[in-house]
Amino acid sequence: MTKTNPIVHGLMMDVPLTIPSLLTFAARYHSETEIVSCTSDLGRFRYNYAKAQRRAGRLSNALRRLGIKRGDRVGTFAFNDHRHFELYFAIPALGAIVHTINPRIGAEALSYIVKHADDKLIFVDPSLLATLHGAIPDFPLERLVILTGDRTLAGQYPGILIYEDLLLNESEDFALVDIEEREASGLCYTSGTTGMPKGALYSHRSTVLVAMAACAAGAMAISGAETVLPVVPMFHVNAWGVVHASAMAGAKLVLPGANLSASALTPLMDDEAVTISVGVPTVWRDLLIHLDETGRKPRVLSRLVMGGSNPPSEMIDGFELRHGISILHGWGMTEIGGTGSIGTAHHGSSQLADADKRKLKLKQGHALWGSDLRLIDDAGKEVPADNTSSGHLMIRGPWVVGGYFGNDDNSSFENGWFRTGDVARIDADGFLEITDRAKDVIKSGGEWISSLAIEAVAREHPAVADAAVIGIPDPKWQERPLLIVVPRERHTVVQDELLDFVGARLPKWWRPEGVVFSDTLPRNANGKVLKTALRDQYVI
Ligand code: AMP
Repeated sequence: MTKTNPIVHGLMMDVPLTIPSLLTFAARYHSETEIVSCTSDLGRFRYNYAKAQRRAGRLSNALRRLGIKRGDRVGTFAFNDHRHFELYFAIPALGAIVHTINPRIGAEALSYIVKHADDKLIFVDPSLLATLHGAIPDFPLERLVILTGDRTLAGQYPGILIYEDLLLNESEDFALVDIEEREASGLCYTSGTTGMPKGALYSHRSTVLVAMAACAAGAMAISGAETVLPVVPMFHVNAWGVVHASAMAGAKLVLPGANLSASALTPLMDDEAVTISVGVPTVWRDLLIHLDETGRKPRVLSRLVMGGSNPPSEMIDGFELRHGISILHGWGMTEIGGTGSIGTAHHGSSQLADADKRKLKLKQGHALWGSDLRLIDDAGKEVPADNTSSGHLMIRGPWVVGGYFGNDDNSSFENGWFRTGDVARIDADGFLEITDRAKDVIKSGGEWISSLAIEAVAREHPAVADAAVIGIPDPKWQERPLLIVVPRERHTVVQDELLDFVGARLPKWWRPEGVVFSDTLPRNANGKVLKTALRDQYVI
């Protein structure tokens, strides 16, 4: 008979990985490090981690007084500011769950998720109150808290609570409960293009690990020496973990509020000596135009992290070559709670020739420890990571969802892996290239054409402001690409010239069948192009 060895446990302390511990750490060891925040009632407000913790302590006691208990969902409908920061820590301190709600999702989805999440309270930015109340008119006003010290709006909404009033008479000591690290801490709904939103329910442990991964030198390298400006909203995937990471590292944090225009961001970056900022290509596009037009270089900004959609090469080159700002291109999604891959150098890639390094920047970076990636084909068979073969991107790791909140649909979960819905290629070093959403992939003559690749090339044309590609039915090839283009102001371009431009830079058979010019592209709440709407419009 074979004897199995008994498990020998390590004799290490079992200290749980919890969100409040991040702020407690920052308040203790980085007490004077500043948090700067833009709000409508205070303008540009500044305080520090020690003061933030004391206010978060008051808030946690106020939440308890209002009846918030372990496991309750508390909604936030807000921009990136210091009060949202306080909510990020005070709600999980009680074992309750921060449900960040995207203000752009539309009334129907909004009312659906507030009901589905069963939010007990919702904290709302004053400028978003009318939208929220309009979408959920039956939600009791005495369960809504306006994120302000200004009482002007209170008269119009009888019974509504004012954030600063809540904090007035509370103790500063955190109303902490003993939290287990696997308890839920955050809830974020997808803003999918089909069906109703689905909830990703993050845990304390996953959130702390995402923060730790963001701090790693091979990722965003957030340290106490940095000043971090999260432009990616705190309502979207915990701002990719950079708010928690800033507290973990004791970095100075600059929260930009509602105004994300380049003319508002550039002085903020300069005055506050921002070293790293994080956001989507749409915002960075405006910043690049602004920098080019004004000829101003940001004072100390050295790195921009971009993800959420693929930036064109012209944008990456523009920042890096004209303005000396390094681009870190990454990939992630709501279901990952943070970053899944990021474009820092590898031993091999750091030896590449400059032109190849530039090409690599267009990829979505490489896998990080904690986000294991693989590709499978339609039949579920593994596709090699050979930089050429495309497959369905699967991911697993400690910060990847294992199911959806209050939803029995397990169709995205297969043998311990999550099906991302993205189609990609991976090379031997783990560098990832997203080529499409599976639903948007164009199948032509049995092969896949990458709509993202055609769009990226089209956007390089000087007359193109934006571009989207969809598949249109074709009797011979099954599907062929159609290019939809938003022309740049004061530029004209004709179809054939654009097709030649695109065709010359891609495999011959990827050349689109035609071009449609349009004033705008339909987008979802996170700014992603709604290809379903384009197909409804252009596929007859
Ligand atoms: P969301 O859950 O709204 O954050 O959307 C996640 C999806 O955005 C991913 O599944 C990808 O389809 C897309 N995405 C994220 N980052 C990138 C990127 N760097 N390039 C291309 N697509 C991206």
